[in-house]
Amino acid sequence: MSDCLFCKIAKGEIPSSKVYEDEQVFAFLDIDPQAPKHILVIPKTHIQSVAAVTPENAGVVAHIFEVIARIAAEQGFSEGFRVVSNVGEQGGQTVHHLHFHVLAGRDMTWPPG
Ligand code: 5GP
Ligand code: ZN
Repeated sequence: MSDCLFCKIAKGEIPSSKVYEDEQVFAFLDIDPQAPKHILVIPKTHIQSVAAVTPENAGVVAHIFEVIARIAAEQGFSEGFRVVSNVGEQGGQTVHHLHFHVLAGRDMTWPPG
């Protein structure tokens, strides 16, 4: 997707504060943090949202969760954090490239609203 913001960030065409990168996954700081630590973890391949996860592309999603666990351990917040993925307009998704928000460093409330 040539006009996708997160495809461009994953390729380094738009600058970001990188937290982690490998062949499949890119993680970077959210530009508008909602917690003291707010990291976005994305697949490098364009997948629209959780609603577009299939048996063919689910491998990268499993890998993303391994990466999230690794980042949490490295950054010292394994004890408590939140992972969120908004889906579609009603779900509050504004960038239509699959991403997982990793939020840490404060008490979380429920329901999220
Ligand atoms: P969504 O609303 O789709 O669940 O999440 C999109 C997230 O991307 C938002 O939290 C927003 O702050 C973040 N975001 C939007 N544009 C940029 C950008 O150019 N750079 C970074 N680092 N984050 C962005
Ligand atoms: Zn994309």
